[in-house]
Amino acid sequence: MRPVVLACFLAVATAGAVPVSAAGQQTAPSDQQGAPTSRTVSPAPNVEPNGFGSHPREKHESLFVRHQLREFEVEASHLENESRVLRNREEAFYKRIGTLPRARATCGAASLAAGFLTKISYLKTPGFDPVTNGGTGNGAGLYNPPQSDATPVPSNYVALFRKAFTIAPGGLQTALCMVNNVYIDTMYDPDGWAFWEAPPQAPQGQGKLFIGISERLLSKLVQPAPLTLSDLEAGILRGLVLNLPNGVTFSKGDPRQDTPEMALLAVLAHEMGHLLFADQLNTIESCGFFANSWTGALAFPDRFHQFGIDNPAALHKNGEPYKDEIESDFRRHRTYDGIQKLGTLYGANISAPNSHNPSSATSTAWVSLFSAVAPDEDFAETYKLVVLRNAQQGEALTSLTLQFPDTSTTNVSNALPVNIVANMNSAALQTKARCINLSMTP
Ligand SMILES: [Zn+2]
Repeated sequence: MRPVVLACFLAVATAGAVPVSAAGQQTAPSDQQGAPTSRTVSPAPNVEPNGFGSHPREKHESLFVRHQLREFEVEASHLENESRVLRNREEAFYKRIGTLPRARATCGAASLAAGFLTKISYLKTPGFDPVTNGGTGNGAGLYNPPQSDATPVPSNYVALFRKAFTIAPGGLQTALCMVNNVYIDTMYDPDGWAFWEAPPQAPQGQGKLFIGISERLLSKLVQPAPLTLSDLEAGILRGLVLNLPNGVTFSKGDPRQDTPEMALLAVLAHEMGHLLFADQLNTIESCGFFANSWTGALAFPDRFHQFGIDNPAALHKNGEPYKDEIESDFRRHRTYDGIQKLGTLYGANISAPNSHNPSSATSTAWVSLFSAVAPDEDFAETYKLVVLRNAQQGEALTSLTLQFPDTSTTNVSNALPVNIVANMNSAALQTKARCINLSMTP
């Protein structure tokens, strides 16, 4: 049995990431890969133009061609069945994760926040590596479970975690209490990751849940003039799309909401979204969360899902642009094309090149470019937005604004602002939000 990993990098990825998706193409061919083979050949045997086949040799050739076509058809049908079997097996594998019994952690009987804070420690390095331990080729003996380092957690980090936990909706607090350890990660660059042990990493029933938070990020959230939620979002977007024009950026929001603790809450919620996705894929899917956005395999291949890596077996149902296409536009200096495509995902109708009036907002099924990378990121990002909208202590998010610049100049004064929280009012995003119950726990 392969290790089960539900995880994600939530931040700046370096180029040349491990091609974690290769196995997904083999084990989970999408409908688009399997079906057309037979659709292409099946009409042929019925087609015989008038006059063809009247000469004995032509007749013989016609029969031969028909025979061959029949063989192709049979083979295509075999392949289709085989791919269906593999797809079902992969889906079964993922859906089974949710049924794995495990030791459920709690926050203890006293204050939930105090209990949560006891889970936080530095990650001992070198040792556990979420990427390699989540990859293939890890036998039971090769797994290095994460361990705590004895270094005390600085009091300003503890204070920030306490604030983030305190403003979290009650349901997320309960869910966070079920995580065994929250590690401060000094070694790996992503803002956050999540990891779920399964056999052979841990015996059946003893798998643990972990969340990692980057110390690089934490240090910036406690510095003088700290990073806030809008900075975090800008960083994620820049991490996804190299050469993003400077004018495309998140603007500072209401200082009561656009805070460092909201940024940390966003990372915790996103990672919890991955754990919930793996645990409750059946429920989320049957609710219709993915129905209007994705076709093909929903689950990522069974290994660590690195930041920004598309799931090749999952396709946008309505043909919306993919992250790699947008990045390619910017790399080739097709700035208008890139902004136009990005706008499509964010509900910004960038209607004409060199427009001085970058047009109106429209509706979208996506909360972010990150959500359009793969179904698990879609769920994690949407869950994050729902959590942030329901933050406590007067921090509930009402506005998170992305600016789309005037594409004729670098002057951003004429930018089109898109409020992602308002985008949540679209019919498609309301459907997704309805599938998110804040009392969900892993
Ligand atoms: Zn993620």
